[in-house]
Amino acid sequence: MIPYSRQSISQEDIDEVVRVLQSSHLTQGKEVELFEEAICEYIGCKYAVTFNSATSALLASYAVANVKDGDEIITTPISFVATSNMFVALGAKPVWCDVKLDGNIDERFIERLITPRTKAIVPVDFAGKPVEIQKIKEIAKKHDLLVIQDSSHAFGSSIDGQKIGTFADMTIFSFHAIKPLTTGEGGCVVTDNEEFAKRLRLFRSHGMVKKQLWTSDMVSLGHNFRLTEFAAALGRSQLKRLDGFLHVRDEIARYYDKRFAGHKLFSTVKLEENTRSSRHLYPIILSPALQCPKEDIFTELQERGLGVQVHYRPIYQNSFYIEKFGEISLYPQGTTHVSDDFYRSELSIPCHQEMSMEDAVFVADTLLEVVEKYSYRGCSF
Ligand SMILES: *Cc1c(COP(=O)(O)O)cnc(C)c1O
Repeated sequence: MIPYSRQSISQEDIDEVVRVLQSSHLTQGKEVELFEEAICEYIGCKYAVTFNSATSALLASYAVANVKDGDEIITTPISFVATSNMFVALGAKPVWCDVKLDGNIDERFIERLITPRTKAIVPVDFAGKPVEIQKIKEIAKKHDLLVIQDSSHAFGSSIDGQKIGTFADMTIFSFHAIKPLTTGEGGCVVTDNEEFAKRLRLFRSHGMVKKQLWTSDMVSLGHNFRLTEFAAALGRSQLKRLDGFLHVRDEIARYYDKRFAGHKLFSTVKLEENTRSSRHLYPIILSPALQCPKEDIFTELQERGLGVQVHYRPIYQNSFYIEKFGEISLYPQGTTHVSDDFYRSELSIPCHQEMSMEDAVFVADTLLEVVEKYSYRGCSF
């Protein structure tokens, strides 16, 4: 089975982890700091604060942005549940904005969703393709809102050569094993705001500041969301290899783009000329003309060795959200929603740094064969 994504661990990565395992500090040493410095250098931002997952990084970002009971957050339903779970955990309410055909939030609707209770806009760079961050920032500036960008898919993505992570007030990356760069579990927040960085560090580690000798003071409520030293060492080693990973992902994606161009039964997501995507996912969008259940195609692709997956069930469709918030209100109201269509028609096909070009050819051949077979069968009647 070729999975839709997977990690790549080299002997160098292993040596780095072992070096730290044999050292005096497994936590709270120099490795986390070194990894954070390397992230800042790579992204081109002032501060990076690592966490033990992107989920805790999201919670920390919302908390230091003072997201609280009664606040509203404008966000996308096409994401992993953690994007909204973590502000719901602080008492805020999701205000869902529909997406475009590429799975990214439709920035044209955002302004109409703003109320006096709105605290922040939380977009997600779906599959690694950057959202229209400049337009989103303009809206936020005009209404004095924060932009917290969940870029868990987009480590290494850029617009006009400027890395994602340098645009929003705070940007979150995930280092989960399936993401472009991994520390096993892990994540970080990057920001240029010194005050946010300071509060993120406190939130990560019990809200405690060290004074002198044995004295310390707990100045705010905090958690233990720290990354271990060996995970940080793995991250720093992976970061050296990241551009290589992204190059392989991009080559495979470009090959798919060519093979699938103009196909009648499914479409692919186009990237703007001035952007680069980490290609965390390679989504295909099945055409409504292909009126057979996606389950059939999904199952056959899996049986033939393609570890396809679906990203994502719109968050508001989950029973927790239905029970907690009742009727979903997704803007614009009273129409069919791209988010629901997207869920019905999206499949993520294998695209990652451990694949060879032969693997990519096999994936493309198999996909084309299966999709055409289902259309030929005429499932529509
Ligand atoms: C993976 C992911 C997360 C959660 O990341 P973890 O590191 O697993 O906590 C959050 N948001 C998005 C969009 C993700 O893809």
